Amino acid sequence: MRSRRRTSVLAICLFFFFHASFAQEVIAIDDNLDQYIFTVDDLAYIEDADGSFKFEDVLGQYARHQFKPNQLYAPHNSNLKSTYWVCIKVQGNPKSKKKWLLEIFDQTIDEVDAYVPLATGAYQQIEMGDARPFDQRRFMHKNFEIEISHSDTVVRNYFFRFQSKSRVNFIVVLRSYDRFIYYALNEYFVYGLFYGMILVVAIYNLLMFFAIRERSYIVYIVYVLSVGIFTMTADGIAFQYLWPEFPQWNDTAHAIALFLLVLSGLVFTKMFLHTRARHPKLDLLLNAIIVVRSIVFVLAITFLPALFEFRWIEFIPVAAAFYCGLYSYLKGNKSARFFALAYGLLFLAFCVKVLINLDIDFIAGSIVTHYSISIGFWFEMWLLSFALGDKVRIIKDSKDRALRRIIKQHEVNQLLKDKVNRELEHEVSKRTKEISDQKLIIEMANEKLREQADEITKMNALLDLDNYKLKRTIHDEMLARAGSKNMDYDKFKEIFPEELTCLRYLEQQKWENGYSCRKCQHDKFHLAKNGFDRRCSRCGYVESPTAYTIFRGVKFPLEKAFYILHLVITERDDLTIDEISETLDLRRNTCWAFKDKVNKIIRKHHLDKGQAAHWENIIFKVEDIPV
Ligand SMILES: [Zn+2]
Repeated sequence: MRSRRRTSVLAICLFFFFHASFAQEVIAIDDNLDQYIFTVDDLAYIEDADGSFKFEDVLGQYARHQFKPNQLYAPHNSNLKSTYWVCIKVQGNPKSKKKWLLEIFDQTIDEVDAYVPLATGAYQQIEMGDARPFDQRRFMHKNFEIEISHSDTVVRNYFFRFQSKSRVNFIVVLRSYDRFIYYALNEYFVYGLFYGMILVVAIYNLLMFFAIRERSYIVYIVYVLSVGIFTMTADGIAFQYLWPEFPQWNDTAHAIALFLLVLSGLVFTKMFLHTRARHPKLDLLLNAIIVVRSIVFVLAITFLPALFEFRWIEFIPVAAAFYCGLYSYLKGNKSARFFALAYGLLFLAFCVKVLINLDIDFIAGSIVTHYSISIGFWFEMWLLSFALGDKVRIIKDSKDRALRRIIKQHEVNQLLKDKVNRELEHEVSKRTKEISDQKLIIEMANEKLREQADEITKMNALLDLDNYKLKRTIHDEMLARAGSKNMDYDKFKEIFPEELTCLRYLEQQKWENGYSCRKCQHDKFHLAKNGFDRRCSRCGYVESPTAYTIFRGVKFPLEKAFYILHLVITERDDLTIDEISETLDLRRNTCWAFKDKVNKIIRKHHLDKGQAAHWENIIFKVEDIPV
């Protein structure tokens, strides 16, 4: 039906081309319809280049057929500086049980003035548009609606004055209240879902940021919120709910949100794909786009607001982000797959929007294409969230793998270490045992040696005693000779070969007739360790064989002292002190001192040669001799 009408319009246009007039369609109110969208030849318009027309002039111009037939499926302001006047024709229907309204579709139109025909033939002017405070509206709805009357069958002309700084559509729809309420509720429900989702995605990613501390999450949150503000400004929700009293914010907020969206999207692309490290050329491209887009934004917001209308430039960042994602994925960056898909969808949505703006008819009109950008963003948002999670998962997986490798290696190392330790311990304990065994053997050997030494000492003592006793008689004889007859040292040594013999001799001389303690006269004693000294068993006084004899305190071998005594007794004057010293291997003074000691006793006790021959006469006469 639509295509048939368009064909007929084309024919009519050709027919009336030179007449500057055409047959404008009259739309009749009909309860069988719920809504009717005015399009193509349902509308007539006139362009007011400098905005100087008054409504009265326009009425006259319409009467003089100066209005042109609309030929666009989505009529819009092709010239942004012009004001457009549009007329539609509606026929009333008193039989209709429904209430009806006209809805003007594009909520971003700055100014919409509706001129509603009254029963009197006069017109009522109703001011609407997003450049005017929200609470002036008859219906608190993002679009612009006017009530219409249908109490008779008169065909009435409704005029609209459109003016907008940016490109807008003039879509007028006739709707029953039923239809309006039904669709508006559903539409707001979907908005609720959409912005609720944006909020959820933002919060989800904020939590992810707190959990993971990955900075790209923050950039992504800025991006998501920019998308939210941008779409809210585009569909009028922001104006209705965020700043209903500040219509002047609508354009500014839209421009800023769009700029933030593009900026954060590009920064996010850089961070997500690590372009600086992985794809330096793409990084350069993205930086260039960021710089150019920023310059355009600053210029637009300062003194070139017309730049805001170059909306097609957003095609570049979207295409760039899509290309970067795809390129990175094809170069083996597995975590870029959902990123590429997300921007691929947005890219597609953008293409649809571009086609709509190029007035490609087959694509315009449907809900899906009208909201293509919003739908594109919606999917893109989820995919990007998913891409972030996917990336983190891939990173985590590779970290886990690395960690598992490290743990595994650590375990292997530990096992190896334990094995080496065990071997070392075994070796050490083996060595220790060997050493302790050897030590034990050596100790045992030493013990044996000590025992043998003790044995030998005991045996020596016994041997010495036996030897002494055995030779005693001979010795007595020899001693008699030693007293009188002179002997050389070698001969003398046959009688007194060593110290032990001397001590035996002294012991025998001293205690031959019994022991008596010099301190307490006790007659019991114990032999001391050396086998000669006697300890009183009552008072503990110790007396050595040399005590109280001429030999007390002698510091040289006893047998040598015995020989010097022999020399003095036998009056060997032929031997000088030097010769004695040499024979006995003693110092000269030592020999002389002992010889003098003997002589002093002989002189003191006036011993003659015969008396002196008896050693005991000299040996024990020492009480008064200084030592
Ligand atoms: Zn005593």
